[in-house]
Amino acid sequence: MKVMLSIAGSDSSGGAGIQADIKTAEAFGVFCATALTVLTAQNTTGVRSIMPVPPQFLDEQLAMVMEDLPVKAVKIGMLYSTELIRVVERFVKTLSIPVVLDPVFLSKAGSPLLQPEAVEAMRALFPYATVLTPNQHEAKALFGEPYHVKAPCPVIVKHFTTEKESHDTLFYPNGTKRTFASPKLETKNLHGSGCSFSSAIAANLALGKPLEEAIMRSKAFIYHAIFHAPALGHGPGPLGHKQ
Ligand code: PLP
Repeated sequence: MKVMLSIAGSDSSGGAGIQADIKTAEAFGVFCATALTVLTAQNTTGVRSIMPVPPQFLDEQLAMVMEDLPVKAVKIGMLYSTELIRVVERFVKTLSIPVVLDPVFLSKAGSPLLQPEAVEAMRALFPYATVLTPNQHEAKALFGEPYHVKAPCPVIVKHFTTEKESHDTLFYPNGTKRTFASPKLETKNLHGSGCSFSSAIAANLALGKPLEEAIMRSKAFIYHAIFHAPALGHGPGPLGHKQ
């Protein structure tokens, strides 16, 4: 069985973060090891509080996973602080496997998930990423412009929507780009869609798929997961799967 590692935060409501990553990996038949960065007390309406793990403890989780399991790809989600980013930076420098970096800033309900002073530290991770998966808001904050991204690694900017379609555009460092489209679903149940998309890409990279195929398979997966969302909670609800 192929193994991926998710470095991410816990969402107590089960829809986003590490919980989404584990469910997504399972859906692709990939085993998901985890290194937790933060615990959050949250539900679909917002985040009440965030408890980061001590940086040394993140380091220990990474070491224990890597010395035992044949990890084939890494997904990086919520990092929250400069201290935790520095641990992950040291870690990614040692890797020779694909790394999917989801530069998580804000939750869909509007709660901050990255300390403002940590944004600059996160840029140090870009050269080690196989792909970066910002939404439009994050792409604008990081690159000043979501439509013509220039970065040291491929960047897929999520969710440009037209009336009928959702478009994700992949920008390569050499300036070429490719757009992936799926039908648009009218729903508020999108909690965890970003986390699930990036972990689906990591799962497919762990399976040995090339990047663009991993993205296509992930986009199809997310479309179905949104379609089957169980409409739970009072805010943007979690994704689902066919019974
Ligand atoms: N909570 C955690 C721990 C996350 O990692 C994320 C996103 O990465 C979220 C919440 C936000 O999820 P959403 O924006 O889909 O609501």
